[in-house]
Amino acid sequence: MKHTLLFFVFILGIASCQSTKPAEIKEDEPFTVWTWMTARRDMPDSAYQTRFKQLEASGVDAVLINTGTDPKELERLAALATEAGLEVHAWMFTMNRPGDTVALKHPEWYAVSREGKSCFDTRPYVDYYQWMCPTREASRSHVLSLVEGLAKVPGVASVHLDYIRYSDVFLPIGLLPKYDLIQNEELPEFDFCYCDVCLGEFEKIHHKNPLAMEHPELDIEWRQFRLNQVKAVVDDAYEIAHAHDKVLTAAVFPYPEMAANMVRQRWDKWNVDKVLPMIYHNFYNEELDWIAFATRQGVTDLSAKETELHTGLYLPSIAPEELLKAITYARDQGARGVALFDANALSDQHLQVLQQFKTSIQ
Ligand SMILES: [Zn+2]
Repeated sequence: MKHTLLFFVFILGIASCQSTKPAEIKEDEPFTVWTWMTARRDMPDSAYQTRFKQLEASGVDAVLINTGTDPKELERLAALATEAGLEVHAWMFTMNRPGDTVALKHPEWYAVSREGKSCFDTRPYVDYYQWMCPTREASRSHVLSLVEGLAKVPGVASVHLDYIRYSDVFLPIGLLPKYDLIQNEELPEFDFCYCDVCLGEFEKIHHKNPLAMEHPELDIEWRQFRLNQVKAVVDDAYEIAHAHDKVLTAAVFPYPEMAANMVRQRWDKWNVDKVLPMIYHNFYNEELDWIAFATRQGVTDLSAKETELHTGLYLPSIAPEELLKAITYARDQGARGVALFDANALSDQHLQVLQQFKTSIQ
């Protein structure tokens, strides 16, 4: 009788273990922690060495470094980070290229709104929104040449595309009050790109002109054309990265249909090795458990592909005592890691939580 009871308890124990462990966690594959950081030319090697060592010791696996697409600066930092045991990703602004001195000599490279105004001098929302046209040969070649410049840097694991999309048709709802905006429909000043090349290429395929439509925002072909233009840039970048033995990663909006709706970015259709959806719950007035929902949505949409999903978390809205919960939401729903925005917001308390988390899954 005693043995039967023990056996029953044992079985119950196994059953309860199984029921609390989500099937999506792949024990044999590492769950990684990445963080975004912007390079500082005034910061000496020694300061970087200390910082990189601290991050590595706290369980950070990789850094995504924005050097303003400067291969030389990236080479300096990649050597220091890899020496400290970190993987390095070359983070770049892709279609939004603020202050790009080459592009600024070519006003025609910039995206044009439905109002006919160019991002060259009329910038949507903020001054650093300086969007390139993704269709025009010269502007996309320029962007792809920058991808190649970073892909050639030794010691880099991936080229990491950020702002790989159109300007926001809709801003995240939580940000609207900051800009004193109401967006109940696709507004012409935030709807891109209506340049001659985009309109011409579209008309060649579909024999209609969006500017002649009463409601171009309802035209499915026009919408699909623009989703395809972004995909074409990504797919070319993928070939370039792989030609240099690097992979391609991208920072994207929370999940594919939301991304398509807000910024014309359908990332589940792309050739890309890893996506880092920015699942920033506070931007959308959502609660912490939305991280689980959005991660699950993206993982499901990628289920037929090899693309890995790493959940992006916005640290300023995640207190250290909530960080473990946020990471667990992502991991339980099939994310292969988390990416933290950004390294500056990573407090010592956050790092302690990370260290405990990494120890617990080893
Ligand atoms: Zn265009």
